[in-house]
Amino acid sequence: DQRLEDTRRQLGNRLRGLFSGRTEIDQALLEEIEDTLITSDIGAQTAIDIVENLRTAVANGVITDPAGLLPAVQAELFELIEPCEEFLVVDESKKPFVILMVGVNGAGKTTTIGKLAQRYKEDGLQVMLAAGDTFRAAAVEQLKSWGERNEVPVIAQGTGADSAAVIFDAISAARARGIDVLIADTAGRLHTQSNLMEELKKIHRVIRRQDEAAPHEVMLVVDANTGQNALNQARQFNEAIGLTGVTVTKLDGTARGGVLFAIASDLKLPIRFIGVGEAAKDLRPFDAGAFVNAILP
Ligand code: GDP
Repeated sequence: DQRLEDTRRQLGNRLRGLFSGRTEIDQALLEEIEDTLITSDIGAQTAIDIVENLRTAVANGVITDPAGLLPAVQAELFELIEPCEEFLVVDESKKPFVILMVGVNGAGKTTTIGKLAQRYKEDGLQVMLAAGDTFRAAAVEQLKSWGERNEVPVIAQGTGADSAAVIFDAISAARARGIDVLIADTAGRLHTQSNLMEELKKIHRVIRRQDEAAPHEVMLVVDANTGQNALNQARQFNEAIGLTGVTVTKLDGTARGGVLFAIASDLKLPIRFIGVGEAAKDLRPFDAGAFVNAILP
């Protein structure tokens, strides 16, 4: 898979390179594996844990030569992310099934909303968007023009409108029109992070007034390029509002795809989609086996 080749170079090729010419497993080799994992954005603790497991397997005679280490690392990486492979199923009986999209500006939130809307539309679902990022005029315009091009209704108000009110009204409109999926955008300004979290909490509360079970999905969008920052953002958003899913974007243009493992092991949340390019088809449902195979073939 060419889209993930930068991460494959950073992680897969370097790991593989460690084994050439090695005939026995020594301390140095295990440490080099640990270094490679740590410098691949997987997270220090996760890297240490993986190598600790390798050490145990070597001590117990389960792994006896260097050739056995690589499949063991592959298996460890797979085990780490496999529990996070949980596809987002839209419950069509909800009308609307409400997906609240959160994430900092630039993460790829608006693009992901467009791709998701297109996917659901192709699945034959009635889709509506709510322009809940009322902070940036450009965000509202971007969503509106995307909606026009793709014949998807967009509920929007002027800049500075109350985001929670926009989304509240959108749910009413979606109900009236028998919409299956409502995807709500939200603000992602970084500089006033605490205000942002308060605003998101309010949105959450207000949505609940419409439907106690909503939002049915609170999906964080993070940019893999930002490495450990992506993990920190995921922690912050999860603490503030409780996430139910994560989408990791821009895995195509980065060597930092290892951060997906850090997010998986730290938050243990479903990773719904990965973004590997600009086109709608480049938003792929997360497949743990395919991901490990792509970066460590
Ligand atoms: P927002 O501020 O979070 O709404 O971010 P946008 O949706 O506007 O995305 C910011 C930029 O990232 C845009 O130029 C997108 O085309 C780009 N982008 C989003 N997802 C991906 C992806 O998976 N791969 C690549 N290469 N670019 C992406």
